Amino acid sequence: MKAVAVIPGKPDSIHLRDAPKPSLDQIPGGRGVLVRVLRVGVDGTDREINAAEYGAPPDGHDYLILGHESFGRVEAVGPSVTELAAGDYVVASVRRPGSSLYDAIGLQDMTTDDSYFERGINLLHGFLAEYYVDSADFLVRLPSRLGPVGVLMEPTSVAEKAIGQAYEIQRRLRVWRPRKAAVLGTGTLGLLSSMILKLRGLDVTAFGLQERPYRNADLLEEIGVRYVSTKRRSLRDASAEFGPFDLILEGTGYSPLVFEAMEVLAKNGVLTMVSVTGGDRKIEVPADRINQGFVLGNKVAVGSVNASREDFEEGVRDLSQAELSYPGWLEKLLTHPVKGLENFRELLGHLTSGNGVIKAYCEVAE
Ligand code: BGC
Ligand code: ZN
Repeated sequence: MKAVAVIPGKPDSIHLRDAPKPSLDQIPGGRGVLVRVLRVGVDGTDREINAAEYGAPPDGHDYLILGHESFGRVEAVGPSVTELAAGDYVVASVRRPGSSLYDAIGLQDMTTDDSYFERGINLLHGFLAEYYVDSADFLVRLPSRLGPVGVLMEPTSVAEKAIGQAYEIQRRLRVWRPRKAAVLGTGTLGLLSSMILKLRGLDVTAFGLQERPYRNADLLEEIGVRYVSTKRRSLRDASAEFGPFDLILEGTGYSPLVFEAMEVLAKNGVLTMVSVTGGDRKIEVPADRINQGFVLGNKVAVGSVNASREDFEEGVRDLSQAELSYPGWLEKLLTHPVKGLENFRELLGHLTSGNGVIKAYCEVAE
């Protein structure tokens, strides 16, 4: 079958190759599911992998099939699969179990192992191919009405985990009633996070660099989220007007903002960090003030990566609710479709050109 792969460690090595078509019997216990890939989304992680800044091939291979944001249709299932059938739409989670205690209970997104197994990213082949096979344990079914936006499921799961963790932690407060949230970053993750928080009934302010006219700002406004360009107003000023923020989600990729967010976070508030910042930037921070604010305000900061099965399932519910509450909105995030695996250059190009791109994805099959 056709697949799009890179040679990890070799910059700009993205290429189309012939790879063996997977089969059901590769998965033990009759739990295999063979999936016809329909769409695969790409993000900054794919760009970094192709730039040889991140990612590793499976043991014994020198190439890595890309793609971790999948959407497909079940073609066949093994004899012990009862929860899925041919024809179902499915999305695969990304991380697979290693050996820590967390992995053993299905929370490999919380692994304490040194290395982690992520399909299309680290040590496991991804989904940017005609087919993949996996255990039913790692697949989540989507209602057919969500088909058109199914490729948004994986980024949604990452946002669900970040927000779900914040709520989980805040159970410490017995009566946490968050009213105001700030989302830093207005790319795909920022848009989806804003949507999720809005569905939870919060007053949401989203912060981005760009000034209007800016499509993402318009999209946010459509669902009742306030947009603030940090070129016009600092986080601190905006927080004086629209805060204090009970929950802040930092996803810009610019780590200094974490410390600004710590300063404006409300008492008893929670800051969730999701930017995977590969650099080694250093800055000076008002350490005493931030520390004192955290202590006297009982604040929490938490990091969040990847997503568990539950986060995917929560994502299915939120995407469904979003389609009812904001009909047609999710589809507007699908800005850059690329037809066919063979157009992988165009696909990756959208990640670097960046102009007006929210979600670029490959239409692998109809
Ligand atoms: C993926 C996550 C993954 C993370 C770190 C992100 O792009 O969406 O699933 O855990 O990269 O590799
Ligand atoms: Zn990703």
